[in-house]
Amino acid sequence: MHYTEKGIKIDDQLRTTARHIYAAGDVVGGYQFSHFAGWQAFQAVRNALFPGSSSGLTDLVPRITFTDPEVAQVGPTEEQARSEFGQEIRVCRWDLSRVDRAVCDNDRNGFIKVIAKTNGTILAVTIVAERAGETINEVAVAMKHGLKINDVAGTIHAYPTYSTGLQLLLTEMSLEQFVSGTSGK
Ligand SMILES: Cc1cc2nc3c(=O)[nH]c(=O)nc-3n(C[C@H](O)[C@H](O)[C@H](O)COP(=O)(O)OP(=O)(O)OC[C@H]3O[C@@H](n4cnc5c(N)ncnc54)[C@H](O)[C@@H]3O)c2cc1C
Repeated sequence: MHYTEKGIKIDDQLRTTARHIYAAGDVVGGYQFSHFAGWQAFQAVRNALFPGSSSGLTDLVPRITFTDPEVAQVGPTEEQARSEFGQEIRVCRWDLSRVDRAVCDNDRNGFIKVIAKTNGTILAVTIVAERAGETINEVAVAMKHGLKINDVAGTIHAYPTYSTGLQLLLTEMSLEQFVSGTSGK
């Protein structure tokens, strides 16, 4: 079985160079998270035991830093998004003071920031809030399934939640996109 300083070498289906052995998690040297290891392990078992195959590699991995407040992110940084997509991106940031639930909880020290392409594709979200990690998974589901900002904005969210803040921010972005035309200019 071949390996480098980063870890065990695998292909897209998580097969090692010993073709009957699969590897997943920290040992393959990718994202070092429990949830990523668990997802890769599921994909490895699926690929080893069932017909067909699924990729065991992805960059769509939510990450949370458990500080106070928490910092939850999915997708690239603004700098990375700008370098890849240039003028094709829009960034919208709301302070938590605009989120009713955060105001109720006296959790005003933070923000929600969304980076989207001008066609509405969600590229990245950062949430800084006491329970930011609880809201970021909704964004990961939306991104995995290719939902656009108006898809999430148009979905009724229970009030008052932090998710409602995200929904309203996306509604603002959606309206801006609508009034500025599909070119985003
Ligand atoms: C301090 C700390 C905090 C973390 N906090 C978070 C967090 O908040 N959220 C998050 O998502 N991730 C966190 N992580 C990362 C997370 O723990 C790992 O990404 C995750 O455990 C990887 O799972 P794994 O199954 O690949 O490896 P591991 O969980 O490391 O499991 C590998 C297992 O293999 C065993 N093993 C090793 N060598 C051998 C051998 N030769 N024979 C048999 N068994 C062997 C080990 O004893 C271990 O039980 C944290 C890591 C650390 C160190």
